[in-house]
Formats: sequence, C-alpha cells, structure tokens
Amino acid sequence: MSEIREFKTESKRLLELMINSIYSNKEIFLRELISNASDAIDKHHYLSLTDDTLERGREYEIELSFDKAKRLLSIKDNGIGMTKDEMINSLGTIAKSGSSEFLEKLKDASEKEKLEIIGQFGVGFYSAYMVADKVSVLSKSEYSDKAYKFESEGTESYEISEAECDFSGTKVTLHLRKGEEFDNFLDQWEIQSLVRKYSDYIRYPIKMEFETQEQEKDEEGNPIEGKYKKVIEVRTLNSMTPIWKKKKNEVTDEELNEFYKQKYYDYQDPLANIFVNVEGKLNYTALIFIPKKAPYDLYSDKFEKGLQLYSKSVFIMDKCKDLVPDYLRFIKGLVDSSDLNLNISREILQKSKDIEDIANNVEKKIVSKLEAMLKNERDKYIEFFNTYGINIKYGIYDKFGLKKDLLKDLVLYHTVSKDDFVTLSEYVEEMKEGQEFIYYASGKNKDAVMALPQMDIVKKKGYDVLVLTDDVDEFAISIMQDYNGKKFKSINQGDLDLLTDDEKEKIKQTAEDKKSLLEKLKEILKDDVKDVVLSERLQESPVCLVSEDGISFEMEKVMAQNPMGSEIKATRILEINPNHKLFEAIENLYNDNDPMLDVYAKLLYDQALLIEGISLKDPVEFSNRMCELMIKNAKY
Ligand code: ADP
Repeated sequence: MSEIREFKTESKRLLELMINSIYSNKEIFLRELISNASDAIDKHHYLSLTDDTLERGREYEIELSFDKAKRLLSIKDNGIGMTKDEMINSLGTIAKSGSSEFLEKLKDASEKEKLEIIGQFGVGFYSAYMVADKVSVLSKSEYSDKAYKFESEGTESYEISEAECDFSGTKVTLHLRKGEEFDNFLDQWEIQSLVRKYSDYIRYPIKMEFETQEQEKDEEGNPIEGKYKKVIEVRTLNSMTPIWKKKKNEVTDEELNEFYKQKYYDYQDPLANIFVNVEGKLNYTALIFIPKKAPYDLYSDKFEKGLQLYSKSVFIMDKCKDLVPDYLRFIKGLVDSSDLNLNISREILQKSKDIEDIANNVEKKIVSKLEAMLKNERDKYIEFFNTYGINIKYGIYDKFGLKKDLLKDLVLYHTVSKDDFVTLSEYVEEMKEGQEFIYYASGKNKDAVMALPQMDIVKKKGYDVLVLTDDVDEFAISIMQDYNGKKFKSINQGDLDLLTDDEKEKIKQTAEDKKSLLEKLKEILKDDVKDVVLSERLQESPVCLVSEDGISFEMEKVMAQNPMGSEIKATRILEINPNHKLFEAIENLYNDNDPMLDVYAKLLYDQALLIEGISLKDPVEFSNRMCELMIKNAKY
C-alpha cells in the first residue's frame, strides 16, 4: 500500500532551493543527517528511562554505509524512529517555527546572501537534496508495529508506503547525484574525514565498514612480500567524548595541551589554557588557548580571528568572529553551547545577543587569567607580553577606550631607571614625593630616550620615565589620560611644570628681557614653528622641539604612515636654553645685526628636528648652511 502526498508549500520552496543550490559547502548534509540520527537516539534513551515498553541499555550506534556502484550512501540509527504520521509531519512539512522565517529572509536575499543563508544550520533533513536526487527514509518507530518508507525526488511530492524493516530506528539512503563533486561522498576516507571534521564529538559511535589491506602470511606466519589481501573491519569514526564535556577537575593540563596541539596543529604546548564552564541562563563551555608563538600572519589582513562554535557537541562553524574581540585575535579554541538559536544564518547568529554575552564573559575570563599570570607567574606573563603586548595596548586604544579600565593593569612598560618591565601600578607606587605625573617619552629604546634634551630636568628630579617604543603606545596613553587619578605627561609636550616658582619667575623675566630676540627668531622660523620660547626643561642641552598638548610628534609619525592621516601635524614649539653658551652667541649676532642670525636660527631648528627623529624638510639646505658655517669658522 503506497500513497503519494504533496509537500507543503514551504517545504517545496526549501527543497527547490536545496536542489538548485550552488552552495559550496554541500558536505554539511552529512553533519545534518548524523545530528538527526543522534537526536533520535537521544530521544530513545530519554524515553526509555521512564517508559517500560522501551528497551533499556540498548547499544546505540549510527552506521554509515555506501555502495559505490549504485551511488548510495546510508545513515542508519537505532533511535526512536518515526511512525507514519511523524514521517508526514516531520519530513513532508517544515515543522520548525524558524524555518518559515528563514524562507522569508531568503525571498529578498541577493544571490550572495542566499549562499550565506544556506550555510545556516537547521535546514536539516532537506540538505540531503544538495547532494542527492532521490532520498529514501526507512523507519520503524518503537510506537508502531509497522515500518514505513518515505521516498522522494524532492520535487512536488513524496511517496509513503508500508515496508519491511528488520531493525528499530531509521535509515536514510541518499541516491547521490552524478558528477565528480559528489563522488567524494562514496569514498571511505572522505567520509571518515567529514565525520571527524563535523561530528567527531557525537556521543554515540558512528561506525562504518572500512576496507583495508593486510599483508598475506606464509605457513610459518611470515609476511609475504608484495602479497596483500582485502580486509574489512568496522571502524568507529568519531572520538565521541569531547574533552570540554568532561568535568574541569577530571582533565589534566597535559590532556588539554595534547588536545590543543592536535586540534590546532601546533607542535608546542600553549602558553596558557582557559577552561570555562557556565551554567545559568545561558549554558556553555569554552576552551581557550593562548599559543606560545603568535601565528605568522597575525597582523596581516588575511588573518581571521575567531573561535570554533559547537552546538551540543556538533560542529557549527570554524571562525565565529564575534566571540573574540580584536585585541585577543591570537586566541584559539572553541565554544560549545546548547542554547543557541540555530535557525538563523551564520551571519546573524554571529551577531546574536547570546554570542555577545558569551563573548563578553569569555573575554573577562581571559583577562582574569592574564591578571593571575602577571601576579603569580611573572616570567610567563612577560613571555606573553613580549609576544602579544602590542595587542593589549591596541585593545586599550580601540573603541575609543571602551576597554581601558579592563586592560590598564595588563600593560607593562620599560622605564629609564629599571632593567625590568613595570606595571602602571608599580610605577605609581614608586613615584617620588611631590611627583604629580606619570612621565613618558617615545624613543627607539631606553638609551635614545635618556639622550633626549627634554630629559634634562626630569633626570635632575630623579623621576622615572616610561619608555614607549611601539607605535600604538602614545595613542593608548592619550586615551587612558590617567591611571587611577595620576595623569600621564609626555616629557616633550606642553608645560612640564617642574620648576619652583622662583625659577619660573626668573625665566619669565629673562623672556621679557629677550623679547625682541625671541620675536626675531619666531619671524625667521614662522613657516616652521608656532612659537620660540625659553625652555623650562632644558638644563645642559641648547635646544629642543616640543609640541603642544594634543597631537604629539610620535603620533604625527605614525599617522604619516597612513595615507589618510598624513596631513595631521603636531604643533611645533622651539625651546631654547637661555643658560647655554649658544644662546649668548645668538644674542650677539642679533645685537650686531649680523645676517648669520638667519643661518643660526634655521640650524637650531633643524637640529631640534633631528633630535626628535623627524626628517628635515630640505637636507640640502641644511647641508648648505652647515658648509657656510664651517667655511666661516675654518682657521686655515
Ligand atoms: P530538525 O532535526 O532540526 O528538527 P530536520 O529537517 O533535520 O530538522 O528533521 C525534521 C524532523 O524529522 C526531526 O525533528 C525529527 O522529528 C524527524 N527526523 C529526522 N531524522 C530523523 C531520524 N533519523 N530519526 C527520527 N526522526 C527523525
């Protein structure tokens, strides 16, 4: 007795989509069918606990088999099975509420978006039609005496008939389409690798007959060279228990490290692992690793950050971007949750509130882990920071400083007075009496910073100075503004405010006296600097260039590398040391109305530029001026 039935309208649309699919990831059909099989076993197991009519302690398994010649691939389970009505309701209709919504979305989608949406999960059973032109489902429910067969080419209708069946459960058989791209699904190695990729952690064994070769042996049991026989063995393709499903205290660090190396193809143990298990409104497990070495392409455009996403141990996607903030892009690992809504496209899922909640929580756990490492295993933290510190600084700066409070205690700095890194909290703890600011200076290294003329007064005071060597440093500091109330101050920006009132008064007085000279210098340099002033910071050195608060020279340099930002400049102020002999020389030139004043002023400015590491506007001019001076001074 067989009967032909029409698919429901929505099903027809979905089927049509699957049949015409040009989705490149067709292989996910296997994951979908294996998940269905696993769900059916779950149901049987669950019901058998309370229903005495069901067999208990059944040996659950999922069996894959294929017939190359007939192009058949089957997925069989010994789960709950389907009655006739269930077949009609489950396979002839899209039952899930999300599906019609999904189809709605698809209606207005562009071709490209369609591909993205098909990559979603929950398309379920119908995904079989991406690779098969006919599917038959043989099923025997525990709640029915009879078995039924569903058969359809996925077009208008399907056929349901009573059938013979010698097992309880369901067997889905795909008649694979013709074409090379579908041949893969008839290859035992390929099937094995797909199972490992997508369904490795399904709780029930996924078995398949595997054909291998064995060397034949002679009568004495010695292998015979070149003679092999076929051997068929049943293999379990999946490893079943995901390590992250175990209790935290049942898993050793060694096991986690092994898992990491195998799964993420690293030959070294990770620097740290983080195992998070959250039960509450949203249930999930996260297993995070910090690789010892940064991936070689971490800073390239092509690098894709992300964690793998699983739902109930079933692999969903490889790089879920929104689980990882940019500044932690180097982490590897996975999240497994049973609560995600899988009826939406990957793209939408990535941006869902649940993913956001998980991401926030995982981020906090990683930060706490790093804080603990800094406190308890400083050497290891320094190793971390040497590799990834720049990312943490970037994290402070990113998003207009949104994360600065979370991250400010994770930054380490070199300083002029110490050989080791210090944290900001350690710097503040060791601030001198009367020291108001956290001082910093940019430079290639400690020695370069120590040699800066602007260091004169800070050195004299004995204040320590953070040495900033990364491009992002000044940006991060400018966005932090202060650390626990202590403001940051650049040694070559704005007013340093380090002199006593008397000293300041004296300089002010001198500036008043030398006003016309300063005006003259300003006039000569009017195209280059905003002002020429007497310095409050120089002690030994004759001259330096400083910038007003705001954009610093360092920022200017960094932005100059970006074609968009090259117009942004720091405001330059030339500071002269009134106590230096050179100042006297200039003053004499001025008083004598000597035209050499022009050459001197420009050379002063050029020197200051060079000290700042800013390239000269016109090196040839500079050289000409130097020559002029050298010739003039030559004694022979
Ligand atoms: P989903 O599994 O997400 O509900 P599917 O389209 O994959 O969506 O399957 C629809 C329904 O068909 C399932 O909910 C289930 O009731 C039934 N089904 C599918 N495969 C099996 C199976 N192997 N055994 C029992 N029931 C199944």
